[in-house]
Amino acid sequence: MSLDGAYDDDNIFAKIIRGDMPAVKVWEDDQVLAFMDVFPQARGHVLVVSKTSKARNLLDAEAKTLGRLIGAVQKTSRAMSKALKPDGLVVTQFNGAPAGQTVFHLHFHIIPRWDGVPLGRHAEGMADVDDLKGLAAQIAAALEA
Ligand code: AMP
Repeated sequence: MSLDGAYDDDNIFAKIIRGDMPAVKVWEDDQVLAFMDVFPQARGHVLVVSKTSKARNLLDAEAKTLGRLIGAVQKTSRAMSKALKPDGLVVTQFNGAPAGQTVFHLHFHIIPRWDGVPLGRHAEGMADVDDLKGLAAQIAAALEA
């Protein structure tokens, strides 16, 4: 899918937000949701989405949505850093299929990195759900109020 097009209400993240599909949630409020990526590029890979916007990508997004999302990315990153103690942390965001986007609901990736541990391939290799639950609980426990 290119940068243009209509928002699909049945995309995977819309289903997760509606509760029609399961997800391992880290935290949420009325505006944003942070949940574990099931095909993680590293242990602890989290996705952050808006629960209210129908933006497919960065170009579509309302300024308010972006403000809330980036605040949520920072809050989640701080908790991840405290909980998992990575040596580094990558924040990525893809726009359009040629850029690597596979789910067309705007989202940010937060990927912890450790020295000497190579980054996994994008959207490959499903994680163990119990491991994801443990990681989500660790990150959630480190959230600042
Ligand atoms: P992108 O390629 O930037 O659109 O990212 C989509 C991400 O969603 C990929 O990293 C996938 O691993 C992840 N993903 C796909 N399906 C699910 C799902 N049901 N629950 C959690 N993450 C998912």
